[in-house]
Amino acid sequence: MEVSIVEECGFCFGVRRAIKMANEATCEHNRVYSLGPLIHNRQVIEELAEAGLTVADDLNEVPDGAPLMIRAHGAGPEVYQQAEARNMRIIDATCPFVDRVQRKARQFTEMGYQVLVLGEAEHPEPRAIVEHSQGQAIIVEGSQDLKKLSLDANVAVVAQTTQPRDSLEALVVALLPQVEELIVANTICEATTTRQQASVAKARQVDLMIVVGGYHSANTRRLAQICRATGTATHHIETAAELDPQWLNGVVTVGITAGASTPLEAVQAVAQRLREIADNKHKE
Ligand code: SF4
Repeated sequence: MEVSIVEECGFCFGVRRAIKMANEATCEHNRVYSLGPLIHNRQVIEELAEAGLTVADDLNEVPDGAPLMIRAHGAGPEVYQQAEARNMRIIDATCPFVDRVQRKARQFTEMGYQVLVLGEAEHPEPRAIVEHSQGQAIIVEGSQDLKKLSLDANVAVVAQTTQPRDSLEALVVALLPQVEELIVANTICEATTTRQQASVAKARQVDLMIVVGGYHSANTRRLAQICRATGTATHHIETAAELDPQWLNGVVTVGITAGASTPLEAVQAVAQRLREIADNKHKE
């Protein structure tokens, strides 16, 4: 059986930067807090917890004056205001690409446009983007959501950084006949687009795709979705231990891809385990 790993997969620039900042912060301070998990990967979070990074679900769980990490997804302006008022030391790991979306949403709102954020309603990144637009921007999960809205004449669109490009294109096509003026900021990050394209290309070449990454990771779930959409059998797993030997029945080629918050070691462990399962099947 042939196992190949998509070249463009695993940690992206923003995640690598956030982890580096967390490691530096935990070297400098005994205890550092992050508002929500720093990245959507349980194994990495456990390692960081051992180094002294505590995940707080709410600012109330963070003591006054403590070091507070803002994760790559970013946070709304109120979080910064409250943290400053309580003398917390802010370590801001907001990815610069996410920061750009927040700035665009703020700018278009100030220009008087009705701002639509293409993204997942429950995901922290679009929610923070809305907060940066004085709470006025509206999250839409796709062009199908437009019928629920009362659209203004002037509309601006930004996208959660991990959205697929064709969803943004579909939204723009659906909006054009309905508005007088439309501004579109393509805020999908390059790392996302490259990973999605490379994963789809791999999915088209193999019998089975394995997508490695946290179940809460939006970009990993999206990778699994688009690989599955090619028609190739696709499984989303967090660790190699979840691989089911039954999946390999009749399979000759397997492709592996991984979300932006998945360490390379986790990907290599999956490749190794797949080869072991294939060897065992061969001996049977
Ligand atoms: S996926 Fe893109 S926007 Fe998100 S953290 Fe990584 S580099 Fe930044």
